[in-house]
Amino acid sequence: VPEITNAFPVYRPLQEVAMGSLESTPPRGEGCLLCKGPLKDCIEGLFDTRFGISGKYKLQRCRNCGFEQLFPIPERATLKLLYESYYNFGAETSTLYTKLRDRFLFSAIYRFWACIDGDVSFHLRRGEGRLLDIGCNEGRGLRIYSRNGFQVEGLELNEIAAEVARKAGFSVHTLPLEEFDRASSYDVVVLSNVLEHSLDPRGMLSDIRRVLMKGGKIWISCPNSMSWLRVVFGRSWINWHVPFHISQFSPQALKCLLQDVGYVNIEIKQVTPALWATQSLIARLCSRHGKKNKQLRNPFMTLILMIFARGFLFPILWAGNRLEHGDCLLVTATKG
Ligand SMILES: [Zn+2]
Repeated sequence: VPEITNAFPVYRPLQEVAMGSLESTPPRGEGCLLCKGPLKDCIEGLFDTRFGISGKYKLQRCRNCGFEQLFPIPERATLKLLYESYYNFGAETSTLYTKLRDRFLFSAIYRFWACIDGDVSFHLRRGEGRLLDIGCNEGRGLRIYSRNGFQVEGLELNEIAAEVARKAGFSVHTLPLEEFDRASSYDVVVLSNVLEHSLDPRGMLSDIRRVLMKGGKIWISCPNSMSWLRVVFGRSWINWHVPFHISQFSPQALKCLLQDVGYVNIEIKQVTPALWATQSLIARLCSRHGKKNKQLRNPFMTLILMIFARGFLFPILWAGNRLEHGDCLLVTATKG
């Protein structure tokens, strides 16, 4: 049953929280990932709709700042195992789905599609200078950013995926960002659907600020916790993506966090990719707790539903974005 009531967070800027309005200290654990405030449950019964990992999760909301996060948050070691078991797209190089997808990504049709559907991975942005792609996986983005004029490097903790990218000729670091000693090196750092996976989003943004040159840009894409699709699809919303998505950002929460860490000129756009709408629909129709959802990798079903979503639902998708309830946030900010 979709969770309709209390579906959107009411976000309070961190500055306001710091003014002494803390309700109480967290009873256990560390509380809110952003302000350490106490948490309350807001949506229960979330489960993995993609890989069939068993276990039920909740969404918790901070009583102080309104930030939303997963509960329970897996331990770092558990997450590493989960990524290595389920997130090895490097091992999935010869399926029909990935072959068709790779052809599509380098075609003129894709550029046209990204133009109308929303460029969630910044594949249309041309420029120059040094670019670091954090969470570059097997290097698909690196190929595209490199073609667009940048000198690219990747950072990927998943050794297997990093090795695939290196074999393709890219320089890929496997150090955690906090140990990365390249202060003031990059013109652009890309976080394409990565920040929501972080156990410490504030630390991640501040580490990135350190490696950016003065005036350098950070490009972030992530799901929007204010998305209308979250209300319509309830627990099947594809962007719950438990247990991998730790944080759910609203535009206000992300903007305040970026300001807090020291970024300026923060611009946030909203888009609703047809693929994401399609995946929510497939999750709604085909996901069962503890069972792998094979239809999410079915290229024909995906393509047909994507064309339907883009071709027929475009007025709704467009209106959702205009009303600031789009499915994806696209953020650009500058190191101040
Ligand atoms: Zn908080």
